[in-house]
Amino acid sequence: MAKEILECSFCGRKKPETNLLIAGLDAHICDRCIEQAHGIVEEEEVHKKGDVVTKELMLKKPKTIKEFLDDYVIGQEHTKRVLSVAVYNHYKRLLQPKTDDDIEIQKSNIIMVGQTGTGKTLVAKTIARMLNVPLAIVDATVLTEAGYVGEDVESILTRLLQAADYDLEKAQNGIVFIDEIDKIARKSDNPSITRDVSGEGVQQALLKLLEGTVVNVPPKGGRKHPDQKFIEVNTENILFIAGGAFDGINRHISKRLNLQAVGFSATQKEEFLDKDHMLKYIIPRDLKDFGLIPEIIGRLPVLTYMNPLDKATLRAILTEPKNAIIKQYKKLFEMDDIELVLTEEALDFIVGQAIEYKLGARGLRSLCEAVLTDAMYELPGTDTTFLSVNVEYVKEKLNKSTIKKLKAVS
Ligand code: ADP
Repeated sequence: MAKEILECSFCGRKKPETNLLIAGLDAHICDRCIEQAHGIVEEEEVHKKGDVVTKELMLKKPKTIKEFLDDYVIGQEHTKRVLSVAVYNHYKRLLQPKTDDDIEIQKSNIIMVGQTGTGKTLVAKTIARMLNVPLAIVDATVLTEAGYVGEDVESILTRLLQAADYDLEKAQNGIVFIDEIDKIARKSDNPSITRDVSGEGVQQALLKLLEGTVVNVPPKGGRKHPDQKFIEVNTENILFIAGGAFDGINRHISKRLNLQAVGFSATQKEEFLDKDHMLKYIIPRDLKDFGLIPEIIGRLPVLTYMNPLDKATLRAILTEPKNAIIKQYKKLFEMDDIELVLTEEALDFIVGQAIEYKLGARGLRSLCEAVLTDAMYELPGTDTTFLSVNVEYVKEKLNKSTIKKLKAVS
């Protein structure tokens, strides 16, 4: 009897036509079919993973997102609400089924306007932490057009890949925070006079990333590794949050609101305006007047503002957020079995100093450091189990310390 030629039970190829034929109980499978099946399994897994990620995110309704932000960011109520909705809509967009109704939900990239130190980066960090997605923080000032000294815009995605540990799927669902976006505003109204290396050209390059495109990204960044392989990153589902101080934008806002105009109606208008918080009247046109190109503004449709930090907010920042500065110091002392207590007056005095020297929220940390360094040096290893810090203690340490230097660096 002729010897039976084995064949693949899936595709029917005879054994000699395959590289490998693996036997099962009553069937055989060839190498090609194994590879194909493996591909299907992998694809399914990615789908499932993607679904789980977005579904998990969708469980967080805007109110839940806002509550999470409340734990870390003091005040800024308006921005927290706006951002909660923007983030919620962003993930709704990712989940939208492909339908024929032509309604395509567009990206809710965000732009936040507010003085430095008012919590813009903190907000972006907190959102990324809550969603458990990678976050890249980049400074727009280092970006230049391709071919110029500085970083190409694609380097933003290199950072995001690094933040995602090179997990492409994660990076493509991540968040990019672009700080100091105002610094790439066009300096003059006539862009053709000189080449504007760090201005409009960068804005143009950014546009593509913001709207969603596939970019070849050098995984290590820079031009120092010319032979590295590129990774294709799709920016369609990346949430971009831009922030900037936009110094002087108040002028554009007032001008638009016609505050300079004299006459009865102008005076009447002024009465209703909160002139200490002009940013709350900001509209996209003000960004255009400041020097952002309309296309960029269009790709950052969610516009919001950060209030300057007043005394009460600074005071709350010291003790209220989940990882408040004072809570951190208490923990540090606790690890040496020392209980740290600061009196209300001591805390108020620290806040007062931050305001007097215009140090903002960032200065609170330096001030606390100045107050507590001696104790953190002296006390560990001694019998002390309790440290009470009152105003006199704070004054003594600050007098002795580098408060004047703090002022110099602010
Ligand atoms: P920005 O990005 O606007 O310059 P940051 O987010 O970097 O400001 O804020 C600097 C630091 O000040 C933060 O690390 C945070 O500790 C503190 N901070 C600023 N604003 C707030 C706020 N609204 N709530 C809590 N902490 C804040």
